[in-house]
Amino acid sequence: MSIQSNLENIKSSLPENVTLVAVSKTKPVSDLMEAYNAGQRIFGENKIQEMVEKWEQMPKDIQWHMIGHVQTNKVKFMAPFVSLIHGVDSLKLLQEINKQAQKNNRVIDCLLQIHIAEEETKFGLDEEELSSLLNSNEFQEMKNIRILGLMGMATFTDNQEQIQKEFTHLKSIFDKLQSLNTENCQLNTVSMGMSGDYKLAIDCGSTMIRVGSSIFGGR
Ligand SMILES: *Cc1c(COP(=O)(O)O)cnc(C)c1O
Repeated sequence: MSIQSNLENIKSSLPENVTLVAVSKTKPVSDLMEAYNAGQRIFGENKIQEMVEKWEQMPKDIQWHMIGHVQTNKVKFMAPFVSLIHGVDSLKLLQEINKQAQKNNRVIDCLLQIHIAEEETKFGLDEEELSSLLNSNEFQEMKNIRILGLMGMATFTDNQEQIQKEFTHLKSIFDKLQSLNTENCQLNTVSMGMSGDYKLAIDCGSTMIRVGSSIFGGR
């Protein structure tokens, strides 16, 4: 199957309100260009250095999403162009993004990553940390970031029931935040679902799926 036909297959099954992020990490620019030529404009990368290199080489109407864990000292490299940062999981990181966005005279859109999986290793905030971040004065004074929603990753398991429970949990946290609409917090996005579980994620209320291997093949 070609990248183009993989993309077409996936897109034809998506509800209108669901955005597809083509996760292109580790793949060469030629593969990304194949997706670009098939109409794809949103790409997700998990390493800042790699994203910067691809951004330099590729057409400038691409929206680059950072989906990986972000180190504070590397924010500056993507601040001029990144379109959405999915994995924000601390006030400190958000402050750095705000600072670098300000330097670039722009507003950077972010999602807050919530820990929904069983594994200890997956990054993210719990509900209490989320609420204290959103209620902090520091956050409320940030003018150069905008929180568009939440992101989560389910446990790596074949147990569909468990994955469904975790996705539903994320959606319920999102729903509880709906009253919170300020200048820098405009919630409309739930980023959940990857190649193996995006259909289930959509059933659970996902509005943004991050799909890599089903488009570009295994890594
Ligand atoms: C790699 C990655 C994906 C895509 O995974 P696939 O199984 O290849 O679709 C989605 N989200 C994150 C955070 C990733 O790191």
